[in-house]
Amino acid sequence: MQARPALFPALLAQRCPVCRRGAIFSGWLALHPACPECGLRFERESGYFLVAVLIGYMVGIVVLVPVCVMLFLQGAAVTTVLAVLCSTSLILAPVIHRYARVLWLYVDQQLHPRTEVS
Ligand SMILES: [Zn+2]
Repeated sequence: MQARPALFPALLAQRCPVCRRGAIFSGWLALHPACPECGLRFERESGYFLVAVLIGYMVGIVVLVPVCVMLFLQGAAVTTVLAVLCSTSLILAPVIHRYARVLWLYVDQQLHPRTEVS
């Protein structure tokens, strides 16, 4: 049996938090219902990913507030700042969405470990 991949590379590669091999996403934004490798069901219950939405908001704020402050300090117009914020948000939204869910899966796995398969 092969050793389980390291946690951080598996998180960055968006792999299952238990086996760290199976892909979490089946498309751009669509999750696999269960890990293709070990069968772990990703969504434990209805509303499970609401915490991931909060994580996404926090990451968005952490990324966008410094950009906004930097633009204001450089004397940019409000419309320019809004245009940059809107375009940056649209570009980053899929990436933040995916990593917020992956991060929540890994945090939840650390808080409430599970090894069962569906
Ligand atoms: Zn797995």
